[in-house]
Amino acid sequence: MPSPYAGAVVSQPGPLCPECGGREGPLGDCTAVFEAQQLRELEQPTMYAWHAVSVSAYLLQHPSTASDRHRDAQFRILQLYHDRGMDALQGFVRHQRARNNHRSTRGYDVEPLAPYLALPSRPAPTAFDSTIQDLPASDQSFLGDGVDEYARRIDGMIDATIRAWLQG
Ligand SMILES: [Zn+2]
Repeated sequence: MPSPYAGAVVSQPGPLCPECGGREGPLGDCTAVFEAQQLRELEQPTMYAWHAVSVSAYLLQHPSTASDRHRDAQFRILQLYHDRGMDALQGFVRHQRARNNHRSTRGYDVEPLAPYLALPSRPAPTAFDSTIQDLPASDQSFLGDGVDEYARRIDGMIDATIRAWLQG
């Protein structure tokens, strides 16, 4: 049976997001996709492994949704994952968690992020080659075509976020 959305998507493409430039799909605008993804992450430990980088990429593509206080750290976290992979990301997350348990102050320990490029001080890009609208599988679930494909789409969103910010 064809998807009830198939005709609508072809004949009436959704609006473009004013922040990331992604085209609204069957799940709704970027906020709706982000909320759906966050809910699924809570149920799916496999998906939760990408939590820090998927949130960072989303916020860097939608600067109006968050304060700019952590934006530089978020940009560097994406580079850490991009350069060194999932094990390095998990090590970083564990380190931050342990640190926040021991101290009353919240926020990132920025030392592990020092080797990475600072977020360029320029207006946020408004177009990215890959956005949160690209994360759902064709059945609109996130893991519908398997975790490897989900990981590939996350990687694409992260690459696009780093590139757009560096290129301006
Ligand atoms: Zn968007």
